[in-house]
Amino acid sequence: MNKIVIIGAGGVGQVVAHKCAQLGDIFGHIVLASRTLEKCDTIAQQIQQRYGRRIETARVDANNVAELVALFKRTKPFLVINVALPYQDLTIMDACLAAGVHYIDTANYEPLDSAKFEYSWQWAYQQRFQEAGLMALLGCGFDPGATNVFTAYLAKHYFDEIHQLDIIDVNGGDHGYPFATNFNPEINIREVTAECRHWEDGQFVTTPAMSIQQRFTCPDDVGSFNIYRMYHEELESLTKHFPTLKKAQFWMSFGDSYLKHLEVLANVGMTAIHPVDFEGRKIVPIQFLKALLPDPSTLGPRTHGKTCIGCVVRGIRDDREKTVYLYNIKDHQECYREVQSQGISYTTGVPAMISAKLMLQGEWFKSGVWNIEQMNPDPFMQAMNDYGLPWKIVENPQLNLL
Ligand code: NDP
Repeated sequence: MNKIVIIGAGGVGQVVAHKCAQLGDIFGHIVLASRTLEKCDTIAQQIQQRYGRRIETARVDANNVAELVALFKRTKPFLVINVALPYQDLTIMDACLAAGVHYIDTANYEPLDSAKFEYSWQWAYQQRFQEAGLMALLGCGFDPGATNVFTAYLAKHYFDEIHQLDIIDVNGGDHGYPFATNFNPEINIREVTAECRHWEDGQFVTTPAMSIQQRFTCPDDVGSFNIYRMYHEELESLTKHFPTLKKAQFWMSFGDSYLKHLEVLANVGMTAIHPVDFEGRKIVPIQFLKALLPDPSTLGPRTHGKTCIGCVVRGIRDDREKTVYLYNIKDHQECYREVQSQGISYTTGVPAMISAKLMLQGEWFKSGVWNIEQMNPDPFMQAMNDYGLPWKIVENPQLNLL
């Protein structure tokens, strides 16, 4: 009952493994499985040294349903936390159905050959999970994840009706490289170079990537940053589950050096996702680029500064208009000291651990496929304060957002 399998031994997997290992009474047995066994073993050694706790490791190709089913049947977990890549979501969900295991992830399924971010593929599993008495909880990182719960929490406690949502993701950290991504480079670049879509008056409106920007000053002296409007997958589920929203936008900060490198790389074809012929073999440019870039899980010791991620919600309460800003600020070096990772992996891995804890304890449990904002936000918000991601609320802030 308190046994879990974590799939993916990258930046986020490391944080999930550490945070679960810190809670021995809740996560009694942990298996960390990934494509490269050595990466699992390195994390297991860190955990042994830090907490004196042994976790099991295994090699698995998560593209292969039979391998996954064999792993689940051998280890018999209550649930699996999928922090491999979005390409593996459906194979892992298939294996969960075959082996009777509950499921959590942090990013929606994406086919390898088209950078499409939508929930349709995973929502299509609703009936099968319901009939099997299994639960799949989607989008349990920070964004999607904590930002969805922030929205649900504000809708529940601060508004009668919510009308506008702006999710603002600022990474004020600096790793000292001219160009590196804070999570999987391939997924990050596919996301950032996609056309922007935002929700307005009952439909998604498309604009060119990175064409709308503004200046945003974070609270608590984190600094001022250029934030760019882009599409992010939680806009799809949040506008579905909060149908009173008239407008919903997602904003992310980028430094000039990151954007200049990205522009040049895109112009020369290095961000392309389809195979090209190179000296008699096929290579996918973005996969080759990933091999050249720093591994996000190595950025921890050199990343300084803070993240500031939150939601600005506008709506009405008692017939009066109001605005509320709910956010978390996290220091990269503080994360490194705790779990040997930078803040982006940390802010993703902690909400995944919290979601797993709430499912294991039965506080969040219903059969079927759900997005995280469909759960009661209150125990999650309490756990954010308890496990390293405390949040603040400002009513009627002076923000002047577009
Ligand atoms: P990494 O690239 O650092 O780690 C991914 C891990 O998955 C690697 O260890 C990789 O193995 C493993 N993996 C890849 N393919 C397979 C496979 N076929 N079978 C088994 N293991 C596999 O990525 P991150 O840790 O940065 O990100 C992990 C996930 O978290 C991604 O889906 C990302 O989109 C999501 N994310 C979500 C966020 C949120 O807030 N919601 C924010 C940041 C990330 P190998 O080491 O062999 O390559």
